[in-house]
Amino acid sequence: SGPLVIIGAGQAAAQAVTSLKAEGYARPIVVIGDEPYLPYQRPPLSKAYLGGEMTEDRLELKAPTFYAEAGVDMRLSTRVARVFPADREVELADGARLSYGALLIATGTRARALPVPGADLAGVFSIRTIDDVKHFRAAAEPGARLVIIGGGYIGLEVAAKARKLGLDVTVVEGAPRLLARVACSTISDFARTLHEGHGIAILTGTGVTRLVGTERVTGVELQDGRVLPADLVLSAVGAVPNTELAAAAGLTIENGIRVDEATRTSMPDIHAVGDVASFPSRLYGRRVRLESVQNAIDQAKAAAKTIAGGVIAYDPIPWFWSDQHDVKLQIAGLLDGFDRTEVEGDVAAGRFCVRYFKGERLLAVTSVNDPKSHMLARKSLAPPPVSVPG
Ligand code: FAD
Repeated sequence: SGPLVIIGAGQAAAQAVTSLKAEGYARPIVVIGDEPYLPYQRPPLSKAYLGGEMTEDRLELKAPTFYAEAGVDMRLSTRVARVFPADREVELADGARLSYGALLIATGTRARALPVPGADLAGVFSIRTIDDVKHFRAAAEPGARLVIIGGGYIGLEVAAKARKLGLDVTVVEGAPRLLARVACSTISDFARTLHEGHGIAILTGTGVTRLVGTERVTGVELQDGRVLPADLVLSAVGAVPNTELAAAAGLTIENGIRVDEATRTSMPDIHAVGDVASFPSRLYGRRVRLESVQNAIDQAKAAAKTIAGGVIAYDPIPWFWSDQHDVKLQIAGLLDGFDRTEVEGDVAAGRFCVRYFKGERLLAVTSVNDPKSHMLARKSLAPPPVSVPG
């Protein structure tokens, strides 16, 4: 016995609570989150909220009354420091201990640290939390020179909003093209043209060696020795899963906390979901860890079913979106070793889709202002139904 303790109060935690209640789960639930906010959506942090087009209260995933009405003991600004599986206890940062009947780890990811000297100077930001955006916005004066390190989704989304806020924006990407890990060159070229068209400077194939400045950052030194003057720097070089807690407790880690298709970790009554968990994908024939709202929601639903005593096999079609200027990118599937692409639509007009194939098999589809092709992709990528025992 003992409550279900959920570590992390983010997207996956909010969904797990909602789904557990819908499943009729009657045990007490305690949610422990280290941020001062109720669970909120992160996608607008680099989009509408950053741009000032969305207010803070609209980020909340559930109304504040929801948790109280659901009888959830919500503990914010509280960090879990350790997990003791043998004692079925968690220890909080202040030393207090709490016993659990079941544990759900939903600790998400954090921004990857920029691996160069000067990364800790004032004026260097990353965007992962509401507080990160508040700090960034406070420094983002119109006319300020912003250098964004990393030309992935978050870097490019912030570039678009910062430009709209009147900043002078340069994106520096080490790979030869933008979005190199997540898209083909047709999309990369399209993105470059899009951002350059809005007055954003794009440097690709350019490594950063150092951030220059004494207390505050004043510049970004590139591999070729050039120094780009900067009033602000945004580090957008990816995320790392918050697995330390789980690793110290002895859980198996394999690019995230290793879970099975029913969100179970290597230890009894401990589940993990969302950005922090890696699960077996039958669809792609390998273990995957996804950083997406789709995965946080659907995997949390699966965990709720399992914890409430049902059986489920989580094997999703991954999907994702990104908003940049007036363009909506939608991605279904993973690009795993594609050997050929097909483009349909009008690239110059900014309305098309790219289909990725391996041999005859469709792996993924990226849609640009073309929601129909995205919905169709999510249908045609669906895995064959699986029969679940029990
Ligand atoms: P999170 O929502 O990150 O929640 C984890 C929480 O656990 C955090 O609050 C963390 O502080 C807390 N925590 C960690 N360790 C502890 C501890 N020891 N004790 C207590 N609390 C702890 N996805 C999309 O699909 N589309 C998008 O367009 C998109 N845009 C994004 C833009 C940005 C700027 C960011 C940062 C993410 C974006 N994502 C997007 C990804 C999406 O937000 C995540 O996949 C999702 O939030 C994952 O949910 P989660 O519950 O696993 O983790």
